[in-house]
Amino acid sequence: MVSSVSPECNQLNVAIAVMHKHNHIRFVNDDTINAVMQHSMEERDSTMVPATDSSINSLESKTLDCPIESCSICLEEFSNGCKATCMPCSHLFHNSCIAEWLRTSHYCPLCRFEMPTD
Ligand SMILES: [Zn+2]
Ligand SMILES: [Zn+2]
Repeated sequence: MVSSVSPECNQLNVAIAVMHKHNHIRFVNDDTINAVMQHSMEERDSTMVPATDSSINSLESKTLDCPIESCSICLEEFSNGCKATCMPCSHLFHNSCIAEWLRTSHYCPLCRFEMPTD
């Protein structure tokens, strides 16, 4: 197949095509960034919904005999025989840590398990 277009001209066409493509991509990216920013703001708002007091109070508190984990909120290891709250998703936190957390956000800080809200 013989092309009637000279290599120089072909290169120019390619360059123009690339420029067009980049312009297009930039335009799409602006839109995408706006959408993502809006989405993350909405997400932040919904994260800051506190769990209901009754759901916090109904959480199971148990004494840890031989704790192997640490509390993911204060990052301190559970001490022997200390009391911890067990979330329905089976994640453990200090009673006071998770109670304080759930008054700010109804999500489990580890797995985003959702606690009931008003
Ligand atoms: Zn803690
Ligand atoms: Zn969890």
